[in-house]
Amino acid sequence: MNRGRGIALRRAGMRLACLMAVLACCWSAGAANAAGYRTANFLVDAPTEELARKIGDASEHYRHTLAVEWLGRPLPRWSRPCPIKAQVAPHLGAGGATSFVFDKGEVFNWTMTIQGSEERIIDSVLPHEITHTIFASHFRRPLPRWADEGACTTVEHPVERARQHRMLIEFLTTGRGIAFPDMFAMREYPADVLPLYSQGYSLARYLIERGGRHKYVNFVADGLAGDDWAGALRKHYGVPGVAQMQTVWLDWVKQGCPAPPAALAASVPPPAARDGTARGQSPDPLPATASPARGPVASTVGRTSIYAQARRAGANPPPATR
Ligand SMILES: [Zn+2]
Repeated sequence: MNRGRGIALRRAGMRLACLMAVLACCWSAGAANAAGYRTANFLVDAPTEELARKIGDASEHYRHTLAVEWLGRPLPRWSRPCPIKAQVAPHLGAGGATSFVFDKGEVFNWTMTIQGSEERIIDSVLPHEITHTIFASHFRRPLPRWADEGACTTVEHPVERARQHRMLIEFLTTGRGIAFPDMFAMREYPADVLPLYSQGYSLARYLIERGGRHKYVNFVADGLAGDDWAGALRKHYGVPGVAQMQTVWLDWVKQGCPAPPAALAASVPPPAARDGTARGQSPDPLPATASPARGPVASTVGRTSIYAQARRAGANPPPATR
């Protein structure tokens, strides 16, 4: 990021600017886990047998249904299961981390750690983390962080998505927004990571509402192929460039994130049914007035899901774990 490239948004009194800050999320140590459960693609370690079974079955369910939603087809079975270590407690902050290795166009050595209440793990953390594995299996290379985290957040529970939207407004009104040219260039997490999640989610939501999930995947594929994000935006969404995308997106945010025109919305294929869970693109409410910061960011970090990946390069570096 470049502090000098912040963009002021004066019309609505919001300002988008780069700001480095201290990463305010961490893992809390949990109690020793006690039970295991094996499925075709997952090996779950959870506090009880019942929880291990629930998490394992839900993981397979999401792996199938979310792959169909994003890619139009299920993933083939992995050669080795992905271990999932789960810490489950009613008041444990929700979060997760998934790591894997890219090497010569392959992806392997999956590991996933998740934590939170049983409810949030099932309805938000698992679909988020499993979407990471679907993207890694599909693209076989790292994605821009905003595109990856943003998309993964769109499959979380509406409560979590609304939280991201509230945080977005806070960031945009307190100078913590990230200029799109910088955000599109990020391959690693910035020091001030939370705005990347909020903005990534909001932009992914904007794009998906205007073309569906398959188009989003194709857009990312084209952007990755030539590292030409302006060209990919133009081709798939009719927006001529990254800076123009920022302008269009900000106008949309300032208008309260309205649903797209009916004709456009009607052309977007509906998400696949997921057994009663509600994770469509329902509007997230915009606060009546964009408020200033409402306290330390750490207080809102409960649902920070950090996706880690390690690239095999040189002398066997340790995997990233944040
Ligand atoms: Zn993530």
